[in-house]
Amino acid sequence: MALNRALILLGPPGAGKGTQSKKVAQRCGVPHLSTGDMFRDAVTRDLPLGRIARPIMERGELVPDELVMKMVEERLSRPDCAGGFVFDGFPRTQPQAEQLDKILEARGFGKPQVVDFCVSPDELVKRISGRRVCSVGGEIYNIHEAPPKVPGICDRDGGKLVQRADDQPEVVKERLVAYERQTKPLTEYYRRNGVLDVLDAGAPVEDVSRALEKLVKCS
Ligand code: ADP
Ligand code: AMP
Repeated sequence: MALNRALILLGPPGAGKGTQSKKVAQRCGVPHLSTGDMFRDAVTRDLPLGRIARPIMERGELVPDELVMKMVEERLSRPDCAGGFVFDGFPRTQPQAEQLDKILEARGFGKPQVVDFCVSPDELVKRISGRRVCSVGGEIYNIHEAPPKVPGICDRDGGKLVQRADDQPEVVKERLVAYERQTKPLTEYYRRNGVLDVLDAGAPVEDVSRALEKLVKCS
């Protein structure tokens, strides 16, 4: 199984991109590339990149394009990306999207497939406030909608569930502003390129997965 293209899941914070991109990546046998996860990993490991990204993420702002692109290019050069990949949280700005198009072309991939996750603002706030993630394997839970079997413990590996530092209400507000200003315009960019599919992602997880299965075919 492969995908033989880049799949981009676009949408605001809390729309369910991480939840669905893991599933679709597994279904098609390609890597799930979350730039947010990559930055969090760099922060946890106290790498130089993490030291730069940390205060920016804590404010709910976007990491500068040059740093994002360098990290993504390095990741795409690894052999596991040969059959395509699923982006979650990338691209987030117009320059990132334009540079990605060039990288994909240079690597022999055609245009990306882009799916825009649409969710109402009230539902986003509810989803983000209930989000908990496994501190070991990164599994995503929700205390309201998708709770673990034992409160606070990951079903998969027993890791402790934590709330992301940037899921605090004041930071969420800033992240939503960054999305509206810098990322939302990408929907128009991809629509003009003829590669945009719009998905009603306000439905329950299984319904969204089924709708995504219809839109995204593995090859
Ligand atoms: P994103 O990666 O877009 O920020 P996540 O996949 O982390 O979003 O999902 C945000 C929160 O919403 C998580 O707690 C997740 O369990 C929950 N969630 C994801 N999809 C749905 C859905 N369709 N219905 C209800 N809750 C959802
Ligand atoms: P996410 O896990 O996608 O919600 O991302 C968490 C944070 O990481 C964001 O609020 C940004 O600070 C940073 N980040 C992740 N991806 C990008 C990106 N493509 N461009 C800029 N900043 C990013």
